[in-house]
Amino acid sequence: ESQRETHSFQAEINQLLNLVINSLYSHKEIFLRELVSNASDALDKLRFRTITEPELLGDQTALEIRIIPNADAGTLTIEDTGIGMTHDELVKNLGTIAHSGSREFLELLSQRGQKDVNLIGQFGVGFYSAYLVADRVEVVSRPAGKDAQAFRWISEAKGTFTIEPAERTTRGTAVTLHLKADQKEFLDEWRLRSLITQYSDYVGHPIQLQVKKPSEVIDASTGQKGTTSSFETVNKASALWQRSKSDITDEQYQEFYKHLTHDFEPPLAWTHFRTDGNQQFTSLLFVPKHKPFDMDGTARRRGVRLFVKRVFIMDDCEELLPPWLRFVRGVVDSDDLPLNVSRELLQDSAVVRSIRKHVVKKTLDLLEKLSKDKPEDYLTLWKNFGPILKEGLASDNEQKEKLGALVRYESSHQDGLTSLADYVSRMKEGQQAIYYVFGESRKALEGSPHLEALRKRGYEVLYLTDPVDEWAAQGLREFNGKPLVSALQADLKLQETDEEKKEKEQHAEGLKSLTERMKEVLKNAVSEVRVTHRLTDSPVCLVLPEGGSPAFLERLLREHGR
Ligand code: ADP
Ligand code: MG
Repeated sequence: ESQRETHSFQAEINQLLNLVINSLYSHKEIFLRELVSNASDALDKLRFRTITEPELLGDQTALEIRIIPNADAGTLTIEDTGIGMTHDELVKNLGTIAHSGSREFLELLSQRGQKDVNLIGQFGVGFYSAYLVADRVEVVSRPAGKDAQAFRWISEAKGTFTIEPAERTTRGTAVTLHLKADQKEFLDEWRLRSLITQYSDYVGHPIQLQVKKPSEVIDASTGQKGTTSSFETVNKASALWQRSKSDITDEQYQEFYKHLTHDFEPPLAWTHFRTDGNQQFTSLLFVPKHKPFDMDGTARRRGVRLFVKRVFIMDDCEELLPPWLRFVRGVVDSDDLPLNVSRELLQDSAVVRSIRKHVVKKTLDLLEKLSKDKPEDYLTLWKNFGPILKEGLASDNEQKEKLGALVRYESSHQDGLTSLADYVSRMKEGQQAIYYVFGESRKALEGSPHLEALRKRGYEVLYLTDPVDEWAAQGLREFNGKPLVSALQADLKLQETDEEKKEKEQHAEGLKSLTERMKEVLKNAVSEVRVTHRLTDSPVCLVLPEGGSPAFLERLLREHGR
């Protein structure tokens, strides 16, 4: 008794506890993820220290997390055999907010209220989420090392906590939650099991749940069967992406993908890689076979999951992928990001920028490989995600070359799609550019008078029929050094002989009075009337003036009644 000390919480902690207890009502179950993640951290820290101090392990070699529901006492204990905390560490770690920006965080949390209870973990104050479900928390911890003294930390979150010496024979920390009367659901085996599977399945350490089973032995005094308890590992205890490629079968990849995305079908392709160098991370990325129902233009769900050191941080981490790769699914597991990373921090993190660069490169490599090895599968991908991928042509300067190799268009060469590389291989002697025309459908374009001059020369024309094409193709500009030129452009410069040129000039001179007369009649309807040689069969066609509004814009305006 005499050895019990009473400490006051730092003002920010009181503020935080106040919020946790009084205004966060939804997603209370996240406390388990937070405490398991702390236990996992503690095991990781120990594992790291034993590299240089192997004696720290002692005879307690198992690195594990135990979850012990006790219905009689109304408590839930989360226990680990990790690094543990000394007296001073208990005071500091569980009584103050270590990092700067905590004030801003508290403001953010109180503004957003219950909607963003997830912020708690992301901001590195996860321990206090225990008070979402408990009115009293006890932490008994014994640091690693011989003859270490254990201490008990207790608080009811009313401004103070106490610390006193405790008995604990094993290394590590046990956090015991005295559950609030209305939170007893967290004693239920199946509830716990499903929470662990949902949130913590990929924690690299075994998570053992204490389960009670009726025993075979009949109790002599009551004449009834008693119960026995045992521990069951409920997570896989090893993250799939952390295993080496040669140890993973295609079926395992596919199953993992289904688990991750809730997709019923296996993925079209995947890439699994680890980078070393200045950024260490592991990634496993999948391309789905079909378009998910929830992915119209901008909506996205799940996307790429971010893990930090095997601990799940967030779903759909937009910062890891550009919008034009939003159909990609998978996992990025960084060794360099802090566990307490928040969305705000991700947005201006150099680590994230570097990861993203790698992820983009690897994804484009995967698509390129697919297009070469399995052209049929690639066309399926192009059909589903081509319009999204094409957004990258207009928005991502750096990737134009790689994207240029991935685009597929309809063309006058034959029915079906062609790549730009194939187009270039068919280019005629003297052909300067890759020609394309934009329109509603292949059928509408095939008869277009704009193409007569090109057709006469035997030049192939790409038919761009997706609404995104006009600005996307303009973004691409060139492929393999060949410019992409719209067949609608007024000054379509086809290579011509001197003779042709001379003939043209004479021709225009002779028709001058006609063009002037036409201009007078058409007045405001056109900006210019010109003699052209691009038509062979049709008498006249409309073209875009330089800097004029592109046809697709006109079409859009028309469709929306201006
Ligand atoms: P974070 O985990 O992001 O640092 P928390 O509020 O979850 O923030 O935990 C605060 C600190 O308390 C941790 O950084 C760690 O030092 C300490 N801690 C919490 N739980 C444990 C544990 N099970 N074992 C050892 N230390 C712990
Ligand atoms: Mg934590």
